[in-house]
This record gives sequence, structure tokens and C-alpha cells, in this order.
Amino acid sequence: MENTIKNSKKIIIKIGSSTITSDDGTIDKGFIENLAYQVKTLIEQGKRVVLVSSGARIAGVSTIGKWSRKEDINYKQALCAIGQVELMDSYRRIFNKHDIHIAQILLTKEDFESEARTLNIRNTLFTLLDEGVLPIINENDTVCVEEIKIGDNDVLAARTAELWGGDLLVLLSDIEGIYDKNPSSNGDAKLIEKVIDPYELEKNISIGEKSSFGTGGIATKIKAAKIVNKYGTSLVVAKGKEKDIILKLGDGTAKGTLFQAES
Ligand code: ADP
Repeated sequence: MENTIKNSKKIIIKIGSSTITSDDGTIDKGFIENLAYQVKTLIEQGKRVVLVSSGARIAGVSTIGKWSRKEDINYKQALCAIGQVELMDSYRRIFNKHDIHIAQILLTKEDFESEARTLNIRNTLFTLLDEGVLPIINENDTVCVEEIKIGDNDVLAARTAELWGGDLLVLLSDIEGIYDKNPSSNGDAKLIEKVIDPYELEKNISIGEKSSFGTGGIATKIKAAKIVNKYGTSLVVAKGKEKDIILKLGDGTAKGTLFQAES
């Protein structure tokens, strides 16, 4: 784990809904503060960082204070439109304090299917990063209906890693990593620290319910690993709310699950 973090120059960090949200359903500013400190530190170590952030819908609910139980797709999309602004406003204010400018990139599944669009995305990413600006990516929920969605940000982050040629994808979740069974209902569940083959892992563990705020659960994290490992990108699942988690993974003082890509 330590060497993978140390040797990775291009890192994508995906922030899950449960990580960006406080217990009361509002955006967790303390988390973003600590994330900004970690990103700054990684940049100072000569690494390049791209964020993929969930949380627009939850931020929408806490901003407008209603519609949380509406299942109507238009309301869901309206909540994302409201919350995306709140989310980026929080990122902007906090990262600016660390002298980091941010940029928003909203993507859809179609963007990854078109060669012209992927080229544009890649060029924009490289320009922003060359100029020291931090790209923050999310799915463009307002223009996507369920059938044409990427659907979860674990896979969006994996596609981004593939497109950018990232060395490492870090999925920050509400859990330390992947266990042999769901730890919330099994006290004796064991953390799996290293995975060589995500297909083998899938056969050997049991996957339980996802958390209440979460979207993809463990299945999409394994799907993301299958995508990126194929392209030589490693993937780590770790607990986002643990202070300095990425830096701690780098010096061996925290644990997570590493899907090691062959180099
Ligand atoms: P995120 O919002 O960060 O993407 P999710 O809530 O979708 O995360 O998925 C993480 C949750 O999946 C964990 O909190 C845990 O309750 C649940 N889970 C189910 N099975 C497992 C397992 N085998 N190992 C780890 N977590 C599991």
C-alpha cells in the first residue's frame, strides 16, 4: 500500500455521499477542510490530483429543506441542480483557503462514448492540471434519466481514471475497505487488505446492504476495480472520514483495501 501511494503521480480521489455528508444530512465542511489539506500535501509531493465528488442530491435536500422523499425523477434532478451549486460552493470556499482554485466538470455516459468528447475532456483536464487548478467531476444528473446514466460515481471515477491515464484511484467510503462479509451485520468480518484479482474476490465474499446515503455499495467498487486494473491503475477503498486518511495510507498508519494493478 505505502509504495503504491508513494509511486503514484496521478491520483483520482472519489468522495462517496456518506463521506461528504454529516449525520444531520448537511455537507460536512470539516471533512472538506481535511481533504483540502491532504490534496495540498499530495500536490506539494509532486502529484497531480483529480476529485470525483458525490453529494449533490443530499446537498439539495438540506438546502431546500423539502422533497427528500419524492421519487419523481424531475424532483430528483431538481435536487441535484440545487445541491450541485451548494456542493461546489463549499469546495470553492475551503480549497481557496489553501490557495487551490477549483473547476467543475459535469459528465454523462455519452461523453465517454464519443471520441471527440473524450479528447475534449482530456485536453481540459490536462490544461487545468498544468495550471495548478483542481478539477472536480460529477455526473451531470440534470440531463440524465436513469436508463442512460453511468449511475454511480465509483464507475464514473473509474472511467475518468482510464481517460486520464491515472496511476491510482482512491474511493473514499464510510468503511475501512472491503470485508469478507458485511461488517455492519457480522462482528467477525475480516478486512481484505490486498486484492490481486477482483473477479476472484467477488466469488469469495458476501456483499450486504449499502449505507443509507450510499449509492453504489461494494459491488460498484469491485466493478470500478475491474475497469481500472485492466489499464494498469491500482484502486484503494478507504474510510474517508478518518483524518488524513490518504496521507496515513501513504505512511502505513491506516488500512484500506488495495486492488493492485500489474505494472
Ligand atoms: P459510498 O457512498 O461511499 O459509495 P456505499 O454506502 O455505497 O458507499 O457502500 C459502502 C457500504 O457497503 C458499507 O458502509 C457497508 O455497510 C456496506 N457493505 C456491504 N457488504 C460489504 C462488504 N463485504 N464489505 C464492506 N462493506 C460492505
